[in-house]
Amino acid sequence: MTVLEQAAARFPRIPLSHLPTPFEAMADLAAATGGPRLFVKRDDQTGLAFGGNKARKLEFILADMKARRFGSVITWAGTQSNWVRMCTAAAVRFGIKPILVLKLRPDQTREAADGNLLLDRILGAEVHLLGPDEDQPAAVERVAEAERARGRKPYLIAAGGSGTEWSMTEPLGAVAYALAFEELWGQAQEQGAPLTHLVLASGSGSTHAGIVVGAKAAAPEVEIIGVSTRASQAEGEANVLGLARKTVAAMDLDLEIEPGDVTVLDGYVGGGYGILYPAVVEAIATLARTEAIFLDPVYTGKAMTGFLDLIRKKRFAPDDAVCFLHTGGTPALFPYREEILEVIEGDATA
Ligand SMILES: *Cc1c(COP(=O)(O)O)cnc(C)c1O
Repeated sequence: MTVLEQAAARFPRIPLSHLPTPFEAMADLAAATGGPRLFVKRDDQTGLAFGGNKARKLEFILADMKARRFGSVITWAGTQSNWVRMCTAAAVRFGIKPILVLKLRPDQTREAADGNLLLDRILGAEVHLLGPDEDQPAAVERVAEAERARGRKPYLIAAGGSGTEWSMTEPLGAVAYALAFEELWGQAQEQGAPLTHLVLASGSGSTHAGIVVGAKAAAPEVEIIGVSTRASQAEGEANVLGLARKTVAAMDLDLEIEPGDVTVLDGYVGGGYGILYPAVVEAIATLARTEAIFLDPVYTGKAMTGFLDLIRKKRFAPDDAVCFLHTGGTPALFPYREEILEVIEGDATA
């Protein structure tokens, strides 16, 4: 056992994912972009209801729910949340009742049962849909009260599973990603690719925080670059730094995470969380047309937009080995069909 595995062993864990996920070269993307050696870690292929980064986190979070005998889980987000889909799937697997409080986007006047929301419905979740102006925390409280009145003990958990709000005290999602870093580092070594950089989407922050902790423990020379999908650089870096330090403390590791270990780029958010812009569609199309790998519009499309821009700006040296962490999210492609086709068909007619 490695030091990290030993440190993580104190937390209960239930296997839910197909591990290890593949670690693959992206030679065609490298050729197309004139980039350095490029790799992808396929955490879109974790299994569990279409896959994604939440599967690894849920192995620890579900085990925590089970150990503490919660009968239901209440989580909340927008209607296209990958977290919600995978949390629902994990709850179904372990006989815990999934209850969802989901907010429609301002442009959704009626329920759009598509993409992730369609999957939530098929999985049999109890779904409470809120209008864009409704008070989500108040609705969660109402739903939780009703659940308690029925005599069930609901586990309340915010979207992302990063434990930054309300419910969780342990940064369990980040513990999972500290281990994931070690997994991908080992694969890179086996493939003769000593990584110099890793680029990933940074949302609620525990994937990024865990990767930072894992890298600090296993390969501190690797530079970790988070691409924000929502927060400003200052907010994102403060959040990830705080989560990483909390993770080190919870795992009782002998490490010091410095502000310089955390980089969040906020230049690719565009109009805001979940809002597409043409460069993101181009990035999604570029990866599909070189490597035949699908990205998602909310997270990995924006992270790839940053990844391609960093290559273009010569942020990496020719002999660097750079890994893109694919965190999943592909079911959300479908509800974005109009915006995607607008750009792609515009290309075709140009
Ligand atoms: C949730 C999610 C992320 C962000 O992970 P965090 O740990 O919340 O930062 C990235 N990509 C996809 C596809 C996601 O669903």
